[in-house]
Amino acid sequence: MSNLNLVERVDLPVDRIPERWYNIVPDLPELPERYLDNATGKPATQEYLERLLVKAMAAQESSIERWITIPEPVREAYRLWRPTPLIRAVALERELGTPAQIWFKYEGTSPSGSHKLNSAIAQAYYAKRDGHQKLITDTGAGQWGSALALACRLMGLDLLVFMVRASFHHKPYRRYLMETYGAEVRPSPSETTRFGADLLRRRPDHPGSEATAVSEALECVYDNEDARFAVGAFANFCLLHHTIIGQEVREQLAIAGRTPDYLIAPVGCGSNLGGFAFPFVHDKLDGADITIIAAEPEACPTLTRGEFRLDFADASGRGPGVYTYTLGHDYVPPPIHAGGLRYHGCAPLVGLIRREGILDAVAFAQTDVFRAAALFARCQGYLPAPESAHAIKAAIDVALECKRTGRAATIVFNYSGHGLLDLEAYERFNAGTLRDIEEEDFVLPVPAPLASAGAGL
Ligand SMILES: *Cc1c(COP(=O)(O)O)cnc(C)c1O
Repeated sequence: MSNLNLVERVDLPVDRIPERWYNIVPDLPELPERYLDNATGKPATQEYLERLLVKAMAAQESSIERWITIPEPVREAYRLWRPTPLIRAVALERELGTPAQIWFKYEGTSPSGSHKLNSAIAQAYYAKRDGHQKLITDTGAGQWGSALALACRLMGLDLLVFMVRASFHHKPYRRYLMETYGAEVRPSPSETTRFGADLLRRRPDHPGSEATAVSEALECVYDNEDARFAVGAFANFCLLHHTIIGQEVREQLAIAGRTPDYLIAPVGCGSNLGGFAFPFVHDKLDGADITIIAAEPEACPTLTRGEFRLDFADASGRGPGVYTYTLGHDYVPPPIHAGGLRYHGCAPLVGLIRREGILDAVAFAQTDVFRAAALFARCQGYLPAPESAHAIKAAIDVALECKRTGRAATIVFNYSGHGLLDLEAYERFNAGTLRDIEEEDFVLPVPAPLASAGAGL
């Protein structure tokens, strides 16, 4: 075995951390819609946003500056694991017999295991700088919560996390990670908020969702003047922070002498896709032939089967409303192992580029996703998070299409996180007991009328 030839990789020098975040807003054909304050039915004021969010975040949310300087302490913290490598999956290409090149940006080197630490560090830094003691947030499978727990520890802040109840009880490993970093973690729905207690009274076995966890977190923020809400994925500023991913990819592809034909990322809410692909969107608008693909689960098909309309970021309808693709804020996605993709809506900026025809989307069944993940692991060694495996499935499909057409395309996907805390799902896949968990006749819930949606609270 003298020539295994498994990978090609492009590593940037350790001091090559981007100095600025890229804000896509000024480069878009139209501005994103403003948030709506549900209490007044009017566009959210800066005052409203600053009561919910750290002031610097509220400012970044509506910024139209193209480049935003990354504070030095944030860049210092990024040095914990950045720059991340860009790796060519040579063994997988050989296995598929494709003339295409398959590259992936490996975000799994972060201490918390996913891309989410990019924004967690920034949000914790600004919260501390603006004088807050505490952040409150929601988490699904726990990737965001564990990233923020580490970031708050590094910056010297308290953290309260509402974790989707099904994961809190059945997938506790990331909870243990959050607790080790020093965060307080509660299941959602919980008895500790009015919204959660009410849900449990009506449905004691309520499994929770990202949206219920957001509602409880917001209630606690409203009850505590010193605390602010930290956003795992939805907000413009969150996508902004992740654009260091795509900036690094641009530089690494240039070193490899390639330009991308396909950029693929998994989408739950859109933060890793935004961070990975936004730095290439202006090339596409300038005429470059780049196909950008969002890969989502069939169990929560926001971009492939949702509608573009006004909806709420949380389940109670008390949080801010905004135009984006959504399945309805009261939609509770069926349980799948890619917990990070179980969100009813998507980031407004991702919704916007989807509506503008800049973003394509595909949806996959869970068993197909795990088959792709296992093939990838056997070829390349890396075991992907179930979320990231959606992008792998899409990349494999494109590579096989290239095999049929003989096209030597460059496919690049974002490997958003590792799957070493998701082994239980792999155990089921290996045992042949993993199911797709989809209803045959998928029906979208009837949306609640806007004016009355939050009136009961
Ligand atoms: C949270 C998460 C996702 C999905 O969230 P986005 O906001 O769509 O990026 C995807 N992959 C991993 C590893 C995650 O932790």
